[in-house]
Formats: sequence, structure tokens, C-alpha cells
Amino acid sequence: MADFWSLVEEAVKFHGHICPGLLIGVRMGVAAMNLLGVDRASDEEIYAVVENDSCALDGLQVTTGVTFGKGNLSFKDYGKMAATFYLRRRNMTIRLVFKPESFGKVVNGEDLSEAMHEENPEIKMAKFATIAKRFGDLPDDEVFDSSVVDIDEPPMAEIRKSIKCEKCGEMTMETKTLVKNGKRLCIPCATGKNYYRVR
Ligand SMILES: [Zn+2]
Ligand SMILES: [Zn+2]
Repeated sequence: MADFWSLVEEAVKFHGHICPGLLIGVRMGVAAMNLLGVDRASDEEIYAVVENDSCALDGLQVTTGVTFGKGNLSFKDYGKMAATFYLRRRNMTIRLVFKPESFGKVVNGEDLSEAMHEENPEIKMAKFATIAKRFGDLPDDEVFDSSVVDIDEPPMAEIRKSIKCEKCGEMTMETKTLVKNGKRLCIPCATGKNYYRVR
């Protein structure tokens, strides 16, 4: 596996900035792959359930190859810095919970806040690199509590055919349509509720 800082740099390209959450997410991805004994998922060999949608999630996606777009990621809005990783071929699932005190082992609050508020992007990266080096070197069990758990076997992502909604006419995944008054409709047309308003 690539060294911790180069993984963080890759994650910064995706996420847009460096921040503590991103470091935690990358670190969690590394720990998960260590514990499961696998490399980055090119397909759906790893499946994850994440318990927050903070900056950490982007670090996790870049590092593990578990991504929202591939369908091997599911989100529970619990607001916890925790995630569960399922390795399909071994039917093995582990749950990791971040220990916030681990950050205190590698950086004091003042230096961290100084790095966070640094305006020059290069100096900021250099400050975070120092923190990341030490954070990456901490043993997995000092950064995360891990436990072996069970989850219902996640379904494989499937390509489903799309059909025309009989009201708005937009192509819609068939499995997401509903029948109302004998017509096959998309969810917004069937429920009358939508997230946008037409001008
Ligand atoms: Zn961030
Ligand atoms: Zn419709």
C-alpha cells in the first residue's frame, strides 16, 4: 500500500482541501484494509456502511475504493465517526470506531488549529504533512476500536432497465417506479413531492 501521506495527497485532489476529517477518513480506510487483509476495491469486493457524511467519508472512498457511485457504500446518518466494512469473499465484517484521543497523541490542539487556519496552501500542506506522518505511524488499535460484527449480506449493485414515467415522461429505473391509478409513475409524480420547484 502507498505510504500514508501520498494517500492523503490523493484524497486532497478529490476532496478539494486538507483537513483533520480527511486524515481520519484515509487512516480509517488504511486500518480497514489492514484488518481485512485486502487492497483497494476495484469492484465490489469490499462493501462499507458509513455512519456519517463528513469530510472523513471522502478520505475513506479514495483509500478503499468503496464509493457512492459504485454502489458498494451505504450511509446511515448516525453522526458517528464509525464505519463497518464487509469483505464479501470471506464473509467477514468489522466495525471501526475512531478514538478522538489518538489525534492528541500526535498533535497538540494549538498546532492543529494553527495548521487548520493557515492560509498559504503550501505551508498548510506542509504543516498537515508533519501531523499526518505521526498519525499514519500510530498502530491501528490506537486510532480505532475494532470489533467483528455481522450484517445482512449486501446485495450486488445491479444495472436495471429504465422505463418512461407515464406522467412526466422522464426515463426512470423500473424498480424505483410506483403504480398509482393504474399508471407507472416516478417517485415525485406518484407522491406529489419533489425536492425542486419548476420555475
Ligand atoms: Zn474537509
Ligand atoms: Zn414522473
